[in-house]
Amino acid sequence: MRPSENLFAYVIVGDSQVPRLNHSLEFLKRFVRCEVVVVAGRCNAPIQHDQIIRPSVEACFDDHQASILLKTNLHRVLGVWDKPSFTGCYLDSDVIAVSPEASNIFSRKNGPVTFAADHTRLARFSRFAVRCFCIAGECDHLRQGIRDKFGIEVAEPDWQHWNGGVYLFDAESSDFLDTWHDMTSRIFGDPFWKTRDQGTLIATAWKHGLERQPTLDRNFNYIVDPMRGLSDRERKGILPPGYTIDASYSLSGDSGLSRPYFLHMINGAIGASGWKNWDDAASLVARMKSCTTAQVGSASGCRTEPSGQRSSHLYAKN
Ligand SMILES: [Zn+2]
Repeated sequence: MRPSENLFAYVIVGDSQVPRLNHSLEFLKRFVRCEVVVVAGRCNAPIQHDQIIRPSVEACFDDHQASILLKTNLHRVLGVWDKPSFTGCYLDSDVIAVSPEASNIFSRKNGPVTFAADHTRLARFSRFAVRCFCIAGECDHLRQGIRDKFGIEVAEPDWQHWNGGVYLFDAESSDFLDTWHDMTSRIFGDPFWKTRDQGTLIATAWKHGLERQPTLDRNFNYIVDPMRGLSDRERKGILPPGYTIDASYSLSGDSGLSRPYFLHMINGAIGASGWKNWDDAASLVARMKSCTTAQVGSASGCRTEPSGQRSSHLYAKN
């Protein structure tokens, strides 16, 4: 029997994302013992990791576009389509592991790809994906845009769409990811569409008939939004002590509250000292650092072969 090959994978393009990637790597390594690879384009800043793929990036794409193209093409970047025992878990660089349970995500794969639900629904997300000039609330412009651009009917105007920050993929994911990648590349340069991957993710899910597929447990992608409830005007120039605090979960096991495995700190909040949600996560890692035996005891493995073996055949190192 072949050993299972579980791999966490990040994608970044440009040095601006390196600080938060390094934070995320630190958290991940404290809580899980899995293979981790970083796909890093146009990066010169030091990345705190030893397994890095440095793809060439076409000059016609900006950093944000290029990172989305690599993210939606990860199955090809890593060459996984002929590896039946492989399961990959993509992580945005603003996702941090906060529990040894994080490594159990690999057992949750179902269907061609597996995502968690977003923190909003389609109608509210709409104006963040397309330039429709709606300034607040819900609208139908993204759904119309998907129909006009791709000829796909999203039959539920307020479908619970998926969040793109964490996803599981394997050798069966190629058709889905190829569609997502192709659709995403087609919106670049279209002035109606913003440079995001979640609008095309909706189109891809409905094209492939996956709108009813179960999503990951929320604790595997627990979205924490420091700007929740703040108007566009209030967001300008705001400092971390003014960020919205999410009190719906606890990292210390308070009863009645969620206990996430991954926190997804959106809107640039990773490393925001002075914001309670970040400070709590940082002190959790600091406590683990100060106790190396606890660290060894609580980090959780995700491979069935000895941890010293590396699946270096899976991807190039440089
Ligand atoms: Zn709109």
